[in-house]
Amino acid sequence: MKRISLKLKLTLLYTFFMAMLTCAALAILFSLSSREILSSAQSRLEHRVQESVDDLDYDDGELEVGSDFYSVTRDVYLSLYDSEMYFLYGKIPQGFDQQPELAEGVTRTVRDGARSWYVYDLSFRLTSDYTVYVRGITSVADAEESFTVTLRFAVILLPLMVLATAVIGYRFTRRTLLPVRRITSTVREIRADADLSRRIGLAGQDGGADKKRASRDEIYTLAATFDDMLGELEKVFDREKQFTSDVSHELRTPVGVILAQCGEMLRDPSLSEEHQAEVRLIQRKAKGMADMISQLLFLSRADQGRQPLSRELIDLSGLTEMTVEEGQLLADSQRRGIRIESEIEPGIEAWADETLYIRMLVNLISNAVRYSFDNGTVTVGLKREGANVVGTVMDQGTGIPADSLPHIWERFYRADSSRTGENHSGLGLSMVKWIAEAHGGSVSVTSRPGEGSTFTFRLPAGKREEN
Ligand code: ADP
Repeated sequence: MKRISLKLKLTLLYTFFMAMLTCAALAILFSLSSREILSSAQSRLEHRVQESVDDLDYDDGELEVGSDFYSVTRDVYLSLYDSEMYFLYGKIPQGFDQQPELAEGVTRTVRDGARSWYVYDLSFRLTSDYTVYVRGITSVADAEESFTVTLRFAVILLPLMVLATAVIGYRFTRRTLLPVRRITSTVREIRADADLSRRIGLAGQDGGADKKRASRDEIYTLAATFDDMLGELEKVFDREKQFTSDVSHELRTPVGVILAQCGEMLRDPSLSEEHQAEVRLIQRKAKGMADMISQLLFLSRADQGRQPLSRELIDLSGLTEMTVEEGQLLADSQRRGIRIESEIEPGIEAWADETLYIRMLVNLISNAVRYSFDNGTVTVGLKREGANVVGTVMDQGTGIPADSLPHIWERFYRADSSRTGENHSGLGLSMVKWIAEAHGGSVSVTSRPGEGSTFTFRLPAGKREEN
């Protein structure tokens, strides 16, 4: 299941709490105001009935009712009954067809069909033996109407408020978490192209307001700390590169002297067979060291951006064919019966550095020969594929275990050091990768252990150098 982003989680949280809060606030408001509205309608009714008694007069055995009694004041209808519940005077609201029992001094709710009414009765003693009853009726619906309006308003307002919280919350969270996205993308870029000179650069780059924010905001502080750490790392890596370069330079001269001295000694006819064998061993080891130093110098120049690339339009088909022939000579000298075949399309050209291209191909071919079984075949191919030149070096040798495949391009990595022999440092493929990429191309590998490997490089075909 896809994980919900932090942005969405926070927004949902805000929205949920906002919805709860709004619901609670409105519920309290409704219950208070409905009670208030209804009780004020009741007290209005009671008050009106009590007042109306002033409009009644009994004179000479005759009951006189003031004109105010008939007017519907404050939504209250008044009617007058005798003790037998016989209607004497007054007004009954339309729709109120019931004749509820008299109930002195209490406000009751009477339902009549779909409507509800408040009814309040009050007795009034006109003489010692003549009592009349005033009945006040008011509609509950009228009282509730204003309350219903409030309710409708709230029902519309509630979702709107929740929606507004969701939108504002989302935008706010997005803005707050923007630096996290920048941190992630910078780290990804650093991982992709191993460029430690990149910085997140949040603090202070977006103007004064952000500078201020940078001093308070935890995420900005995190980004600044990250940048500091990257700065430190870059320094360490630079020192390491410089160290490798210095050491390689320092070693080059003594190794050169050892090789020259070995050559000198081997030319001495008085040297015994036994001593000659010892000197040859020293020479072989020193040769291996000289190769490693030259590879290290190449890579440290590449790291420091000092490895020159002199590209010119070269005939890749011819150059590849020639390198294959030289590879065959080298393979023959090993006497393991390994054949190198070529499947090269003629006339392929590319803007490339001739020396580096040969270096790349020699590395791939010598690896293929080294890891081939005796009497195996290595096939070198070259063809055009759209705007690219695609080269392959295929062997039927030991292959590379799947878990080693991603690492073979790393410096000093050897998948099976027991097979690679003494003079192999694990630097060759790092160089191959650098050369392919420096030409704007790439290199990849497929391999099956026990069956063989195929290295494929792609370079832009016949393109002019861009500078
Ligand atoms: P090395 O000098 O050890 O050959 P490389 O950088 O050229 O260093 O290769 C790194 C590792 O990749 C080798 O040690 C080997 O294990 C593996 N490898 C390279 N090419 C092949 C191949 N054609 N077949 C099998 N394994 C290979």
